[in-house]
Amino acid sequence: APDGGSKKNSTVRVAVRLRPYMNRQDEKGEGPCVRGLDSQNLEIINWRNATETVKYHFDAFHGEQTSQQEVFLSSVKPILPHILNGQNASVFAYGPTGAGKTHTMLGTREQPGVIPRAVREVFNLVNAKDEDEGWDYRIGMSYLEIYNEKVLDLLSPSSQDLPIREDKDKNILIPGLTNTTISSFSDFDKHFVPATLNRTTASTKLNQRSSRSHAILLIKVVRTQRTVPHRQQTGKLYLVDLAGSEDNRRTGNQGIRLKESGAINLSLFALSKVVDALNSATAGRVPYRDSKLTRLLQDSLGGSAHSVMITNIAPEYKYYFDTFTALNFAAKSKLV
Ligand code: ADP
Ligand code: MG
Repeated sequence: APDGGSKKNSTVRVAVRLRPYMNRQDEKGEGPCVRGLDSQNLEIINWRNATETVKYHFDAFHGEQTSQQEVFLSSVKPILPHILNGQNASVFAYGPTGAGKTHTMLGTREQPGVIPRAVREVFNLVNAKDEDEGWDYRIGMSYLEIYNEKVLDLLSPSSQDLPIREDKDKNILIPGLTNTTISSFSDFDKHFVPATLNRTTASTKLNQRSSRSHAILLIKVVRTQRTVPHRQQTGKLYLVDLAGSEDNRRTGNQGIRLKESGAINLSLFALSKVVDALNSATAGRVPYRDSKLTRLLQDSLGGSAHSVMITNIAPEYKYYFDTFTALNFAAKSKLV
């Protein structure tokens, strides 16, 4: 079976989450075309010939019954302590529009997703730190969107396309990006919710823009040693709801839609090349510079960073091609 990067030296953990079957979305009512086999394996069933299946193996498979809590505990919680020690981490939701990326990352009030759970946990970890260790912690947030290869500040909606820079220590910086200090989860919520609402409202006007841009939340933990020389370390956590991975050429997009599609394809293709290069056994150039998305994530994806890609898929037949493509992307497409 194609392997989704379960090698010990993988630097990007690849998980797949299948959302529940929603019959109303399936025009033909043919039943699900994806079947979970166990906690790491699944198969996709050919839409023309049900006896023909393709099996996939991943670091984790989360079936349709998996709760938000389980996804968080298995794929995200373990990487969070690292950002208190000055290391970087990133979590992405990848997959076709309608497959559950926003549900996984954001969730609802009743079923909160990765973002609220991770932010709560970061505050828990910081508050539980022993004073005797001698560090003071400060937590900051930034929230941005990459749309048509433009970097836009969601905490300062009137801002223009922001530049991406690299300092002498290879840290990626975005001069001008709002970084708001937050002191608690409710403080975070106060800034995050209106910005998210703004984005969603704009998206209905701009015809589903939210599924055509990458939404990126950055949680930055800066710790300073209390004694001289007051050494400082910064750990960054990127939480990313990627643009829909559906094949935009098939939908017959034109004009602005076509331009968006080009930008989405460019950045998702760049991301796949980066993940491939990182997970492949042979060392080679990692093509971070090929898109704004990969450029921005350069210091938090690969190297000593801890990364998780959650590929979201939907079981209805109308998603068959997009599911197949998404699984091959995630599994690096080596069919047996
Ligand atoms: P995407 O962001 O990938 O376009 P959404 O997160 O908006 O997809 O999900 C599409 C629909 O499916 C939404 O109505 C969402 O509430 C629902 N959904 C997605 N994942 C799940 C899940 N694991 N359990 C229940 N409902 C889900
Ligand atoms: Mg979404």
